[in-house]
Amino acid sequence: MTADPHQDIRDAVRALCAQFPDEYFRRIDAARGYPEAFVDALIGAGWLAAMIPEAYGGTGLGLGAASVIMEEINRCGGNAGALHGQMYNMGTLLRHGSEAQKRAYLPQVAAGTLRIQSMAVTEPTTGTDTTKIRTTAVRNGDRYLVNGQKVWISRVQHSDLMILLARTTPLAEVGKRSEGLSIFIVDLREAIGHGLTVRPIPNLVNHETNELFFDNLEIPAANLIGDEGQGFRYLLDGLNAERTLIAAECIGDGYWFVERAVKYASNRVVFDRPIGMNQGVQFPIAEAHIAIEAANLMRYRACELFDAGAPCGAEANMAKYLAAKASWEAANVCLQTYGGFGFATEYDIERKFRETRLYQVAPVSTNMILAYVAEHVLGLPRSF
Ligand SMILES: Cc1cc2nc3c(=O)[nH]c(=O)nc-3n(C[C@H](O)[C@H](O)[C@H](O)COP(=O)(O)OP(=O)(O)OC[C@H]3O[C@@H](n4cnc5c(N)ncnc54)[C@H](O)[C@@H]3O)c2cc1C
Repeated sequence: MTADPHQDIRDAVRALCAQFPDEYFRRIDAARGYPEAFVDALIGAGWLAAMIPEAYGGTGLGLGAASVIMEEINRCGGNAGALHGQMYNMGTLLRHGSEAQKRAYLPQVAAGTLRIQSMAVTEPTTGTDTTKIRTTAVRNGDRYLVNGQKVWISRVQHSDLMILLARTTPLAEVGKRSEGLSIFIVDLREAIGHGLTVRPIPNLVNHETNELFFDNLEIPAANLIGDEGQGFRYLLDGLNAERTLIAAECIGDGYWFVERAVKYASNRVVFDRPIGMNQGVQFPIAEAHIAIEAANLMRYRACELFDAGAPCGAEANMAKYLAAKASWEAANVCLQTYGGFGFATEYDIERKFRETRLYQVAPVSTNMILAYVAEHVLGLPRSF
């Protein structure tokens, strides 16, 4: 077996995460709080600036290395969902922003003095059908006026900046439905209470997510990223990195569940022997492990292609699909292995079980990945 090229990163992230044991995350979950100290520590150590080029103050690592950081956070019992936006939301700005915008924001994001944790795409009435979003941004001199509504927008209360997708040309006036959408940077510190209202959504996971209401929110025209009307294309450009990073988080969760299940099955004695001696207990754990290992190979394949600048849409989507499914299977097996104790908060299984379930729905649901593979990889007719 070849040595892991990212072992140094693994060791360092693990050492940092070790300062935040299970009790820490359990306490935050019970209080429905936000893991401030954990996020501060990761940002402070520069881990979330991994994908920002050195020229803008980041460490300029590839997707493979960045994905290891995310994997380790979840593998150590944490939840990267509280912070992953800080690693990848700046991608749109990096790829399509002007030099002035990049200089204005990226060094501060890299230093951790600015947080760009939020990205607002989803809307209540349109869901996955993104090109039909109804939030509009209308140019008025050197400002845009934003009106509309978003839903499920995460980490807004723990961010300074938000990437916003809004329609700048009405759907009826564009040749293709993907045209006429634009991306903006919203300074949340100025916007909240001045045209933007944030309403938290209590949910299954302890995940800070919100409804947003835009009522004549003014944003400077200088906050438009790239060309007006090209926002949907810019959004798609960022998806491969995002999907691969989320796949890595799921893989981290999967290993965590398998490690816990193995340990518990080896120690728990029922009918005078460890439950793990029973094939009915050990086979599902072995199966879960196999699925995670397979997903992991696809994750590294996606990273390799991405870091070589090659197309990786199929691999990134398949990695996300396999990893989200594998982590959920592992969660289920782990809970079953623990029996009744799996339901007790003090064992952390039920918390991670809830957390990992999200990834079959967000940021993209499994059906959308299947539709992508059917159409773009297999050449089947478009289904929607
Ligand atoms: C905790 C959480 C955090 C989130 N954070 C963010 C965020 O920060 N920013 C953001 O913009 N969004 C965020 N989202 C939204 C998330 O991306 C969406 O929930 C997800 O993309 C699915 O959209 P929807 O909920 O509107 O489902 P819908 O589009 O209403 O779909 C419902 C179900 O029907 C299926 N479906 C719909 N159409 C088809 C079809 N044609 N073929 C087959 N199946 C179909 C879907 O796969 C899904 O299972 C978050 C969601 C959650 C739950």
